[in-house]
Amino acid sequence: MAPLHLNTPLVESAPLSRLAGRRVWLKLDALQPSGSFKIRGVGRACQTYLERGARGFVSSSGGNAGLAVAYAGRCLGVPVRVVVPKTSTARARELLAAEGAEVTVHGDSWVEANALAQSLVGPNDAFVHPFDDPLLWPGHATLIDEVAASGLRPGAVLLSVGGGGLFSGVVEGLARNGMADVPVFAVETDGAASLQASLKAGQLVSLEAITSIATSLGAKQVCRQAFELARSHPVTGLVVSDADAVRACVRLMDDHRLVVEPACGAALAPLHRGEPALASVEGDLLVIVCGGATATAAQLLAWSESLR
Ligand SMILES: *Cc1c(COP(=O)(O)O)cnc(C)c1O
Repeated sequence: MAPLHLNTPLVESAPLSRLAGRRVWLKLDALQPSGSFKIRGVGRACQTYLERGARGFVSSSGGNAGLAVAYAGRCLGVPVRVVVPKTSTARARELLAAEGAEVTVHGDSWVEANALAQSLVGPNDAFVHPFDDPLLWPGHATLIDEVAASGLRPGAVLLSVGGGGLFSGVVEGLARNGMADVPVFAVETDGAASLQASLKAGQLVSLEAITSIATSLGAKQVCRQAFELARSHPVTGLVVSDADAVRACVRLMDDHRLVVEPACGAALAPLHRGEPALASVEGDLLVIVCGGATATAAQLLAWSESLR
């Protein structure tokens, strides 16, 4: 079965290369049909569940994971049910409904929405997790397969981390393309830095609350796979402010005419702040522009005013 994701462009950013004093490449997964990289892993997982006999998909994500499930379901002709909390935005619900998903609004937080979603999973349904499912990671790894096929061997990769699914897939992709030694800079926003907290504690820990506006990074705890890979692969955890992440989004909008969420701007922010940890990298930098469908230009500009 053909994959549901696109092979996305890999472009050199002239403004970022000038800023960093080395070539900076952008892997433009913001251009995926569901608006983010998530369709890579989610598409693959949904195709696998369908082959195994699933006749319905259930998700509890009011963000890009839910949108990817809705898109995959529409492509595969499988009905999708998404349960989102009352705190989800009208825009997210509209985008989900536009993809043909049945949207149920339930509970004051994701915990209650997720509990209802789990209870709705019938014997012929598959629950599609946003980041913690071994079926997702090889799908996300195709991102690095495409980079390798283009002939680029980066000196380091910058990406953002929420629950760690993207990170797990990228590390898997590096390993399967003979790049297991290429360091990864794993970027989180202050208030959503669950990987950093676990790395500091030396064990998986859970944040008490998410306080960042980068809601797509808002997993209180990263998956075990991400934590373990962060200790076996060369990884540096970086934390940026919400304001830095939003500024990087606005710069991307001006430089490359792309609108992405702060969750994605986070991966670009270390370049703008002249992150000293990047100085030791030898070679080109690769940034995963992971996207985010819930962003609008107006919202980014409003945040950029309020977060000075
Ligand atoms: C999901 C998501 C992330 C984080 O991915 P994880 O696999 O949860 O680490 C980052 N940016 C965007 C836009 C996302 O949708």
